[in-house]
Amino acid sequence: MIFDIITIFPQIFDSYFNESILSRAQKKNLIKINIHNLRDYTLDKHKKVDDKPYGGGQGMILQVEPFYRALANIKMQKSKIKMTNQNAKLTAKTKTIMLTPTGKTLDQKMAMKLSKLDNIILLCGRYEGFDARIDKFVDEKISIGNYVLSGGELPAMVLVEAVSRIIPGVLGHSHSAEDDTFSVDKDYVEYPQFTRPEKFQIPNPKQITNSKKQKTKTLSVPKVLLSGDHKKIEEWKKKHIKRKTN
Ligand code: SAM
Repeated sequence: MIFDIITIFPQIFDSYFNESILSRAQKKNLIKINIHNLRDYTLDKHKKVDDKPYGGGQGMILQVEPFYRALANIKMQKSKIKMTNQNAKLTAKTKTIMLTPTGKTLDQKMAMKLSKLDNIILLCGRYEGFDARIDKFVDEKISIGNYVLSGGELPAMVLVEAVSRIIPGVLGHSHSAEDDTFSVDKDYVEYPQFTRPEKFQIPNPKQITNSKKQKTKTLSVPKVLLSGDHKKIEEWKKKHIKRKTN
């Protein structure tokens, strides 16, 4: 899976993509993330990517030309690679996605579908968003939730992570994306999980708990989880599944 991200803040991605699971996935060549600076696709010396909206209105709008050039360049590079690599599929499955609060809200099913692609190109907006003509060059619009952020960079990171986790090998042997909440047909949030210590003694319960009675000074792991009885443990897990609340 190759992700191409077009942004005016390329450095935003450095720390997140170079840590943990996504860093390992890139090292193992399971995913590749290319960050493209939109300003590299401008023709003027000030590298201007935005302008005032026609007809009036607040703020600045990202212009169509730099996005068009960036997309054309990315797609041209890909077709060159395809032509020089005889084994490469000629019909690589690519999708160009605009990140926008007006898009379809990202969920696990959507992430699963996207994980079947070969290449995802993500357009990150800023300011008051995109010139509407950029719509002509996108296949899909995706939002990460019903709230407005300042840019498409966080949504791009969210999408890259949600999709990458599903790609076989990315999570390694210790964990499978299929166990996660929302996988396949499941609509529940996971059962409660615990790790060491078996008993957690709250040093000063008055300071930290919101209970007025302050009776609980020790938080213990449910006994059944320590029993080694797998049948009983499975029953307990089923009984304690927590469903999403909205
Ligand atoms: N005026 C725009 C509107 O009301 O839709 C808001 C633009 S927002 C300040 C700037 C950019 O952040 C958007 O173009 C989009 O790329 C990104 N963005 C903000 N919230 C988002 C969300 N919930 N999902 C995906 N992208 C988002």
